[in-house]
Amino acid sequence: MSRYFSERYAGLEPYVPGEQPRDRKYIKLNTNESPFPPSPLVERAVAEESRLLQLYSDPDCRKLREKMSEVFGVSQDRIIMTNGSDEVLQFAFMAFGDREHPFAFADITYGFYPVFARLNHIPYEEIPLKEGFFVDPQDYMGIGKNIVIANPNAPTGLCLPLASIEEIVKSNPDNVVIVDEAYVDFGGESAIGLVERYDNLLVAGTFSKSRSMAGARLGFGFGNEGLIADLNRIRYSTNPYNVNRLTAAAGIAALTENEYYMHKCQVIQANRQWTAGRLEELGFHVLPSKANFLFVSSERIEGAVLYRALRERGILVRHFDQERVRGYNRITIGTMEEMKALVHAIEDIFAD
Ligand SMILES: *Cc1c(COP(=O)(O)O)cnc(C)c1O
Repeated sequence: MSRYFSERYAGLEPYVPGEQPRDRKYIKLNTNESPFPPSPLVERAVAEESRLLQLYSDPDCRKLREKMSEVFGVSQDRIIMTNGSDEVLQFAFMAFGDREHPFAFADITYGFYPVFARLNHIPYEEIPLKEGFFVDPQDYMGIGKNIVIANPNAPTGLCLPLASIEEIVKSNPDNVVIVDEAYVDFGGESAIGLVERYDNLLVAGTFSKSRSMAGARLGFGFGNEGLIADLNRIRYSTNPYNVNRLTAAAGIAALTENEYYMHKCQVIQANRQWTAGRLEELGFHVLPSKANFLFVSSERIEGAVLYRALRERGILVRHFDQERVRGYNRITIGTMEEMKALVHAIEDIFAD
């Protein structure tokens, strides 16, 4: 920190993204990216749009929101588009949190939530997951705090049924409930249909995981018109051109070929099932995942040791050095070829 750094952020502990090393070619199973390229239409749309880069993008993302509205069945004034879903989450913390409106979220969940809370000087409560990493909806009933729930949760992959989400939303009418659905397309149940009925529900989503666009940065929020207007107030106070031209064009093209992506999600689910089965045969404890990753541990090997041994063999997975999950690794589901390489590497490590 230089001597110029603001006091306001002196206590900040930034989020640590998964590593993107360049020292060699790795099989990357550590940041939940899609192993599949975008659809051909996306490539063409981006090339075409690049001829207009001298012009600012549309700050209202009208064409993109029109397409979103068509695909998700939500009216356009209930949609906001952002630079990745991390941005819609940051906007929501800024818009809805303060000393009188603290946040609550699980102790084991997306690592960005506490960072957003601290960045914005919002008090927060971490609610411990139950034994087996389950979210107990009772812990969130009428708690009088803003709530953010990743559903499916990261890094566990466990999912709450929609009925539980609705109960939580219903029981906290004076607070905003944010449901982070980054992984919903891999087997979860979306809360988008509830947006019409509850004015305190914000559903966040992303093109980074199920739509092969992590590098393009495109996220979105669905909510009541009032909430969306609040988020736009923040957006216009920070960066009105938050979604650039190339990304907006890519997003429209991706939604036009939505079936391509939904098919790939089916492939990921099949690969996930195969991988879970093989890892169980090798004695791993595998949480029942509805996401594009598995959260696994084994009595035979410590989490950090397995992480390092896989890294030496050219495979990256994600290990979190947090007390409750130290024994685990989060493994992104890739192609069958990558999953077979993973299983072979683990067999090799166990044979040593
Ligand atoms: C990946 C992820 C996000 C954000 O992804 P973006 O790339 O910023 O859209 C949000 N929430 C969770 C739980 C995630 O895993």
